[in-house]
Amino acid sequence: MKSILELDNVSYSYHSLDGETSALQNISFTVASGEFIAIVGPSGCGKSTLLSLISGLIKPETGSILINGTENNAGNTNIGYMLQKDHLFEWRTVYSNVTLGLEIQHKLTPERLTKVDQMLETYGLAGFTKQRPSELSGGMRQRAALIRTLAMEPDLLLLDEPFSALDYQTRLEVCDDIATIIKRERKTAILVTHDLSEAISVGNRVIILSKRPGTIQRIVPISFSIPDCTPMQSRNAKEFQEYFNTIWKELNHHE
Ligand code: ADP
Repeated sequence: MKSILELDNVSYSYHSLDGETSALQNISFTVASGEFIAIVGPSGCGKSTLLSLISGLIKPETGSILINGTENNAGNTNIGYMLQKDHLFEWRTVYSNVTLGLEIQHKLTPERLTKVDQMLETYGLAGFTKQRPSELSGGMRQRAALIRTLAMEPDLLLLDEPFSALDYQTRLEVCDDIATIIKRERKTAILVTHDLSEAISVGNRVIILSKRPGTIQRIVPISFSIPDCTPMQSRNAKEFQEYFNTIWKELNHHE
């Protein structure tokens, strides 16, 4: 399958008056079109730094990052970002929030708006377009934020702990919802999370980073015997606990 993202030997250090902090070292992996990658690792190992590098916000010190075969210079690639906060604006309706990105980029074309309407319909928000974000549940807000991101038709979606502000029950439902939408829309996504169960339930592969400076400790391919299972259903698959134990041991074997 065509690869969307290629990282080759990427390293990055932060420089400050106190000196140099090596955040990531020798990171190489590729992501195929339509894959869902989950990245886990100890706090401070460089997970957010890795997403910033992929998005082009910061440049690698060594190595290269190619998106669709091109270096991500000056935002020439189309990357969607979903963060812990949904950043919906209360002074705008739900509809004018989900079309905000298109408005800013002057892409409010009939084709794009039709696609937005279809997504609002399919993902249960069509009846809420005139509402304000505060009138939506936490899950609906995240769905609206995702539709706003998908409206831009990104080649790659980066998700940085997008569910960690939610309580456990809501988190399970929203994660299931969002991951199912991303798979259904056949998007390529990279999720950073500290929740191993979340990583295993959504990822086609889980990349385990070592403690700082983050290196790739292991990449675990995930597949379940339940065909076409949703993230929630995968938690009941017999392989789930095995994956959990493997990744847990891998993360803790240096301690
Ligand atoms: P994670 O997302 O895995 O928790 P980060 O990517 O946020 O880790 O950070 C990796 C390391 O780089 C941490 O040790 C952090 O303290 C350091 N770091 C992050 N941002 C900066 C910065 N702007 N200046 C200096 N050090 C930083």
